[in-house]
Amino acid sequence: MATQENNTVKRTFQIPAENLTIFLGKIDELNRRAKRMKQQPITITRGPVANAVRMISTKVYGAFGQTEWRDKPVTVELHEITVEGQSPQITGWTLVSRLQYIDGSILAHSVPGETCPAKYRDDWSKRCDHCNTNRTRKDMFIVRDEAGKHICVGRNCVKDFTGHVSPNELAFAAEWLHSVSELGNEDNDIYSGGEDARLQLTDLLACAACAIRNIGWVSKKAADQNGTKPTVTIAMTLLCGKQPEGVSVELIVDDKDQAMAEAAIEWAKQINPLGDNDYLLNLRSIAQKIIISGRISGLAVSLVSAYQREIGIVAARKKMAEESRHVGEVGSRDRFNLTVEKIIDIIGHYGMSHIHLFRDDHGNVMKWKSSRERLDTGKTYQVKGTIKSHDLYADIKQTCLSRCVCVEAAR
Ligand SMILES: [Zn+2]
Repeated sequence: MATQENNTVKRTFQIPAENLTIFLGKIDELNRRAKRMKQQPITITRGPVANAVRMISTKVYGAFGQTEWRDKPVTVELHEITVEGQSPQITGWTLVSRLQYIDGSILAHSVPGETCPAKYRDDWSKRCDHCNTNRTRKDMFIVRDEAGKHICVGRNCVKDFTGHVSPNELAFAAEWLHSVSELGNEDNDIYSGGEDARLQLTDLLACAACAIRNIGWVSKKAADQNGTKPTVTIAMTLLCGKQPEGVSVELIVDDKDQAMAEAAIEWAKQINPLGDNDYLLNLRSIAQKIIISGRISGLAVSLVSAYQREIGIVAARKKMAEESRHVGEVGSRDRFNLTVEKIIDIIGHYGMSHIHLFRDDHGNVMKWKSSRERLDTGKTYQVKGTIKSHDLYADIKQTCLSRCVCVEAAR
């Protein structure tokens, strides 16, 4: 079906001197992957070095605690680097994206100049247009014909579809083209060349993890209220190799902090891209970066805290699933000693109702939907109610009650 020809793809970048090591490191990383996948490495050619003037924004601290951003020109040494690699030729088709299905997320890695059609971003059918079957797959490839029609090809069908290209060849091509285009993205702060604007994400987060481990998470807001230093400031100080003033313990970033930073980044990378929580989606996009701007350092360090909260929630949920048993017989009416853990207010056709989630003294989860009464979270009540059903919600056994009469328990 196709010829054995490959396309040679070339991209030229102007890399600021201080970002060169990171850029070349990323290329080395890709080439180690090429070797493992038995693919031709990508090559780099060094071009001339030139000076350029860039305007950068610097945060200026005023005498009264106010801060502002000021632009100033700086001279940046730019290194011209040309990256060259192979992209398999599939006659009549152009490679658009590689889709990965990981833990509830569909991640699209699109090659430069191509956009993965939105319909594939939430398509869990994993339908291969080549063999017309839906199968369990980890990888799919989107290709496009000259008329702009997109089709999806499963990893196992790549060879059959192209006639000669191995799935590894296509996967690596998609990966390196995608990575290189990310590195070359002007929005990526690897190019900003600002004085305080480039931070290694992993290092910054390791410093934040160290600060949190020793003195706990302090948000900017909490710091403003209490007159203390926020975690981001402490992390930035540590990142500069200094000890923050006014902190009684010596902060030493160790392997645990490094591991915490890496785990937090991995977690954020897997945040569902189709979610509607902007904060989480922003964390997700920060996690894709190697270098970030100082301007988003506050948001970036909050990633560690968000991750720790998440694993706390996951651990608590697991513990709850282990502890909670169904209580009593469905249909019977009984008395219980219950503490309100959470109330979810629901606005329905007939007004507001309140779902009460309780726990009894043995850790059993009980639920009651009330249309009028709304108890207080954290308080314990003597509850008389009818056992309506025994449910299972997210692996947690719940006993649902109806017709409850609740009296606040005496302390
Ligand atoms: Zn197929």
